[in-house]
Amino acid sequence: MSQKPDCKFCQLESNADTNPRWVAAFDHSFAIVDSRQTFRGRTTLIVRNHYEDMLAVPEPEFAAINHELRVLATAIQTAFAAQRMNYANYGNVVPHQHWHVVPRYEGDLRWGGPPIEPDAVEKLADHEYEEIAEKIRSAL
Ligand SMILES: [Zn+2]
Repeated sequence: MSQKPDCKFCQLESNADTNPRWVAAFDHSFAIVDSRQTFRGRTTLIVRNHYEDMLAVPEPEFAAINHELRVLATAIQTAFAAQRMNYANYGNVVPHQHWHVVPRYEGDLRWGGPPIEPDAVEKLADHEYEEIAEKIRSAL
């Protein structure tokens, strides 16, 4: 695996056992429940290798990651009965390839628009993150 010592996403997998937001590892990526749960079930799919831009990911690995993204999104949609799924890949805050996978519900905070979080988002208790992660895992 190719990792960068000072990258916080490169460190996440080694703490999987104690992370209440840990969902699952795939061959090329892993999933963690987002701390922001305005859109219940929001999860981040993080590439295991450190790439700062999508265009740096070799084509076969990118295809495999896309498959894992679809597997994760299907599980989230099933687990939370989402009406729509949103996906985003920015890399502005943490320049390590990852996708925001955001389930959307008719009538949610920004239904019909992008899933922009409010400025202040209340964090959940660890056991609530564990419940969300387990619900997703059980649908994988
Ligand atoms: Zn990294």
